[in-house]
Amino acid sequence: LEKTIAMIKPDAVSKVGHIMDMIFSDGFHMSKAIMAQLSRTDAQRFYAVHQQKPFFNELVDFITSGKVVAMELIGNDAVKHWRTLAGPTDSAVARSEAPNSVRARFGTDKQTNAVHGGDSPENAAKELNIFFGPQPQK
Ligand code: ATP
Repeated sequence: LEKTIAMIKPDAVSKVGHIMDMIFSDGFHMSKAIMAQLSRTDAQRFYAVHQQKPFFNELVDFITSGKVVAMELIGNDAVKHWRTLAGPTDSAVARSEAPNSVRARFGTDKQTNAVHGGDSPENAAKELNIFFGPQPQK
């Protein structure tokens, strides 16, 4: 069994019920879930690998534009399985190539694409830690 992070982005939080149905129907176990508003600092940490990309600031704006729902999913080959269920990054491509994927159903384009998935067990663990790790005292 493997662990991954699935995150519903602000554009699709209103579809959380449908998306969780798809996750459970596909056989995942959900071990943690949280709804949260990411600060810009958290978002920059979450997307640190994209820091040099031209769309980085836009991506941080988008991901902090509303609440997100982060989930820890467990299953066989969970990283790859969730990326397959999520579908191609560009929702338009998802609609033609993977019509039953989450992004085909609930995404809009290549940025506003409903969900995120960890791309490796190591990155998934780092990203899960942003939501579920030890919190600094307030
Ligand atoms: P994620 O990491 O969110 O699961 P991904 O691995 O399919 O998505 P990446 O290439 O890692 O896609 O890009 C991360 C996120 O950045 C995308 O999900 C999308 O929201 C945004 N993004 C990717 N490419 C572009 C682009 N060309 N223009 C604007 N935003 C983009």
